[in-house]
Amino acid sequence: MITVEKCTEHLAGMVRIPTVSNAELAKMDFSKFQQLHDYLRVSYPLIHQKLKLEIIGRAGLLYSWKGTGKSDQLPLVLIAHQDVVPEGDLSLWKYPPYEGVVAEGKLWGRGTTDCKCNMMSILEAVEHLLETGFQPGYDLYIGFGYNEEVMGGEGPAAGLIVDTLRDRGVKPGCVIDECGGVSKGNRMGYEGMIASIVVAEKGYSDFELYVEHKGGHSSVPPKDSAMKLLAQAIIAVEENQFPYRITESVKANVEASARLSDDEKSLLLRDVEGNWDKLLPIIEQDPYLSALFHTTTAITMASGSEQANILPQRASVIINCRALEGDTLEVIQEHFEDIVPQGVKVRLVKGGNPPRASKLHSHGYDLIQSICEENYPGIVTIPGYMLGGTDSRYYSDICENVYRFGSFLSEGNWGPAHAANECIPVDILTTGPEFFVKFITRY
Ligand SMILES: [Zn+2]
Repeated sequence: MITVEKCTEHLAGMVRIPTVSNAELAKMDFSKFQQLHDYLRVSYPLIHQKLKLEIIGRAGLLYSWKGTGKSDQLPLVLIAHQDVVPEGDLSLWKYPPYEGVVAEGKLWGRGTTDCKCNMMSILEAVEHLLETGFQPGYDLYIGFGYNEEVMGGEGPAAGLIVDTLRDRGVKPGCVIDECGGVSKGNRMGYEGMIASIVVAEKGYSDFELYVEHKGGHSSVPPKDSAMKLLAQAIIAVEENQFPYRITESVKANVEASARLSDDEKSLLLRDVEGNWDKLLPIIEQDPYLSALFHTTTAITMASGSEQANILPQRASVIINCRALEGDTLEVIQEHFEDIVPQGVKVRLVKGGNPPRASKLHSHGYDLIQSICEENYPGIVTIPGYMLGGTDSRYYSDICENVYRFGSFLSEGNWGPAHAANECIPVDILTTGPEFFVKFITRY
């Protein structure tokens, strides 16, 4: 049985184990992940009896539930991440971040919303289905990585899980991950309910622009210093933005969202192609729209010499890029090389190509939509688009239908992810597992 009490207890139990990730593997405490795995084993006994469990990489979890073979559907993969971001300034927390406190109708703590609730949601649903004797006709996999919050760190766990599936010839028909979900009365000035099924996300990459120089004493500065060249490069990047353009997933997202309001801008956004000339100046002025319609380049870090009276031998800036589909790492690198002054070199620090956008309609997408319509009559479905990134991007390599759909109902009263006072109302905790019970049984 799926009950508020059980969902709350299990999520609180997970939150009490601080599975904080770090970009440096050596700085991660994997004993905490071990503790979490032990906790899951006790909390979800049937899953651990009936499903095959493998540890992937240092602490990745891959559960396999063999189907009866009676369904023609390709395998279903449900994913989330075990890791959380650090708690930050403890004094800002109303309740301690790792005690799983229930107060004011909410469960408080790091990971309650991002995204141990998604782990709970999936596990609760599968445990319940096992209790009822259900077995899927298709193969079902559950994958939980351990370094989503640090962009995969020194080796993305989600990538390792995808490699494992690929090596075994598993071709998923649908993947469901965190983000998106059902919201009520708090989005874009629209009072009704919205189901956001996120179909695409931007690509993440960091490039370094650097200048190497002979350095020396600052009392005898050269005519063209490293910093001068670098400054020219920075200005060139700012003045040569990637062009604005329309991609299918952004267009679908923006047009569907625009139908929820009727202000002047929304009316134009309902037909992005038809109104492109009028929209361009609006997009340029609006940082959010701007980010949707082109590859962004944010200059975020700079370094020169170590001391005020030393000329730098190496001066550099980091540009964090968020790429639209089509702008590969090569395209971005060439763009920078074309515009920076001579003497400035360009180097990819890390990143990947933007993942392929998922189909706007498929068995999986349509099923999410129909369950939402059944659960919340009158709900509007929007194909979502994410400016940030999730573990989903690795799965896009092996599946055309990767959807970020968080399964819970949100009424705008969750505590913020990645900040102090992250919390989730307990009375909606069954909405996630109940969604997955329907999805798994009808897929
Ligand atoms: Zn997350």
